[in-house]
Amino acid sequence: MNLFVEIFYLAAAVLFILGLKQMASPVTARRGIVWAGIGMVLATLITFAHPHVNTNYLLIIIGIAVGGGIAWKTGKEVAMTDMPQMIALYNGMGGGAAAAIAAVELIKQHEMDSTVQLLAVFGALIGSVAFSGSLIAFGKLQGIKQLRGAFRFKNQQRINAGLFIVVAWMGLGIATSGTDYGMFTLFLFFALALAFGVMMTLPIGGADMPVVISLYNAFTGLAVGFEGYVLDNPAMMIAGIVVGSAGTLLTQLMAKAMNRPITNVLFSNFGETTGEAQEVSGSMKAIEAPDAAIMMAFAEKVIIIPGYGMAVAQAQHKIWEMTKQLQERGVTVKFAIHPVAGRMPGHMNVLLAEAGVPYDIIYDLDEINEEFRTADVALVIGANDVVNPIARTDPNSPIYGMPILNADYAKNVIVVKRGQGAGFSGIENHLFFADNCRMLYGDGQAVANELISNMKEL
Ligand code: NAP
Repeated sequence: MNLFVEIFYLAAAVLFILGLKQMASPVTARRGIVWAGIGMVLATLITFAHPHVNTNYLLIIIGIAVGGGIAWKTGKEVAMTDMPQMIALYNGMGGGAAAAIAAVELIKQHEMDSTVQLLAVFGALIGSVAFSGSLIAFGKLQGIKQLRGAFRFKNQQRINAGLFIVVAWMGLGIATSGTDYGMFTLFLFFALALAFGVMMTLPIGGADMPVVISLYNAFTGLAVGFEGYVLDNPAMMIAGIVVGSAGTLLTQLMAKAMNRPITNVLFSNFGETTGEAQEVSGSMKAIEAPDAAIMMAFAEKVIIIPGYGMAVAQAQHKIWEMTKQLQERGVTVKFAIHPVAGRMPGHMNVLLAEAGVPYDIIYDLDEINEEFRTADVALVIGANDVVNPIARTDPNSPIYGMPILNADYAKNVIVVKRGQGAGFSGIENHLFFADNCRMLYGDGQAVANELISNMKEL
């Protein structure tokens, strides 16, 4: 590779890393995405000057135009609530692309250094699994009827383990046989690797898909990194390593925030428990918007807890408008964000940032949990599992051990939701039956509107 190309690849890699670093804070995240994007454009353009790329220019340009065009259109149109499945799809494409690179290199059956050949096969296996697994994850999150729920049958784990052993054994054979592997073996290896991705994902319920997608994201990164080594492309290697490690950390973070080891996500069903769940006593008590508005307008401190329902209702702008009204009245308002509120990490932060809520009134669980005892009102809008106190007390509950926001410790709790619908885990929320809790029924945005107009009249 010539020096000119290498320098540009290095610059692209630096932009990826700096971009990712900036994505760590909501204040700089937008800039980070732009930087990483510039890095990607640079890496793509300079590839045309790569000595190995000396043919098929038209095909490459058509590929970029079609892929880029579809991504541009879908990226602009996708609803915030559909973001997880969109990430699954794009991630799958990354894994598929890495596997395709490996396929091209292996089909050529040219002499490769033994390490390079091994990495090509590793990348092929991991990329194929990430590709087909992500497509199934997409289908489950999209609610495709045939894929809904956890698809299980007898001895499934054994069959999956057997399939994995066969694929790994074939891969090892291809990796160590120089150029002697036949085309049929290669074809079968890819087909079985793709089948393994499907088989591994089918038994996992839709509820666990965000964690699975994050895991496949790590797989894709790893596969891209390996294929970068095969193509001797430093930008690809670094981008792959960065994506692989970010995906691994994110998977760990989500599993930790849900208090579930990753093996539990992959090999058991969400909600599988052994004993009887704790009975809930008392009743849910409703409140009307005018009374809720008075309660908050005359409070000293209000903590707002947004959840998935706020995303569904797209209520973030109205909630911010209400917050400004409260602040004008001298009420201290803070936002409390649970690490797995919504359907993907950072879901609530993105929505609040979009509405213009300043970052200095948004707090993470660890920062704010002690403060609920001094709050006059905890306003729960569209959140459910992340404030369910059963997670502290009932070992038989599927969410037992998950750290929760201590909304129940506030003097008063107001919960905005449409009806009696359960949260993501499908279990009853004991907070809703507590003496200090009132239910304000309605769509999140409509209720926020009512609260705003009621506050104006006070
Ligand atoms: P949640 O438990 O899914 O509950 C959302 C609540 O919003 C529901 O009870 C629903 O009740 C209400 N709702 C829905 N649409 C609404 C609307 N238009 N207006 C008002 N309310 C509405 O949400 P969460 O508390 O945010 O918890 C997130 C869950 O997702 C956790 O169990 C977490 O483990 C899981 N999860 C998250 C991630 C992640 O990365 N964030 C990943 C994997 C899993 P009604 O139907 O009665 O309105």
